[in-house]
Amino acid sequence: MSTASINASCLTSSVSTPTTTKPTLRPCVVASFNPSSSSPSPPRLIRNQPVFAAPAPIINPTSNEDMGKNYEEAIAGLEKLLSAKADLKTVAASKVEQITAQLQTPDSTGFDPVERIKKGFVHFKKEKYDTNPALYSELAKGQSPKFMIFACSDSRVCPSHVLDIQPGEAFVVRNVANMVPPYDQTKYGGVGAAIEYAVLHLKVSYIVVIGHSACGGIKGLLSFAYDGTSSTDFIEDWVKIALPAKAKVKSDHGGAEFNQLCAYCEKEAVNVHLGNLLSYPFVREGLVNKTLGLKGGYYDFINGKFELWELDFGLNPSFSVKDVATILHWKL
Ligand SMILES: [Zn+2]
Repeated sequence: MSTASINASCLTSSVSTPTTTKPTLRPCVVASFNPSSSSPSPPRLIRNQPVFAAPAPIINPTSNEDMGKNYEEAIAGLEKLLSAKADLKTVAASKVEQITAQLQTPDSTGFDPVERIKKGFVHFKKEKYDTNPALYSELAKGQSPKFMIFACSDSRVCPSHVLDIQPGEAFVVRNVANMVPPYDQTKYGGVGAAIEYAVLHLKVSYIVVIGHSACGGIKGLLSFAYDGTSSTDFIEDWVKIALPAKAKVKSDHGGAEFNQLCAYCEKEAVNVHLGNLLSYPFVREGLVNKTLGLKGGYYDFINGKFELWELDFGLNPSFSVKDVATILHWKL
């Protein structure tokens, strides 16, 4: 049984003495595979082992059978390699020191990540958490969000900010270009698990897929050749989920200039994702039973606008994706 745990620093500020605002740092366990252990210890990987400086063969799982299938085997494989190369250990330890120093001090631009995170949490704690005890004591008991939201990972489109979503209101998935892949237990388990949990366990009332202006993922989708060559490890394959949108906008707006084509595709891709949601049986069931609704959204941060629409799926129990038809737009 693994006893690994992950140590980190916790930011705290006084709860009982509001006048004390200066935060303190204390070590804490933020994740543990063995919560019953009374004295959690750091995992061996971050105590002494110079994993950051591992040479390429170590971090390439396809080239090293010793890495094994599970965590214990992976650590054993690393230790074996490191003990076989004493010189490497010295070099790696020095590299770890260098990286640690970089993490602990402002970088060359003067940006101090620890200070920024500390300041952010202190502000949140003082201005929001401490001023709304009713909300946070309720959330401590559980969550019952009305929405599941798909949004892009883009740093400019956080739905909590754009839609003033409060804690407990939305179960959120963010990924490159706010993709909703079709039901696939082997390829897209992460997204599938989130949808399953949101629909069957949290019983959200609405799933909202939100696209946005100037989306890098959509720009990539329209730029990649898809001719058998590939210049990325993951991105081309990931955004391929929205290929039907690319095909449609190229067919409908073939003469449009590239940026305009991207804008069309950013919205059309949302429709593809709404269609993909229908490949999940529990989503279909929710729609048929009218316990679940789907909505498409588009946030234009260049012009400060938001659109929301829904698709008329013409749903009945023998529904087919081909029934996707009427698009109802409304603009703010
Ligand atoms: Zn994006």
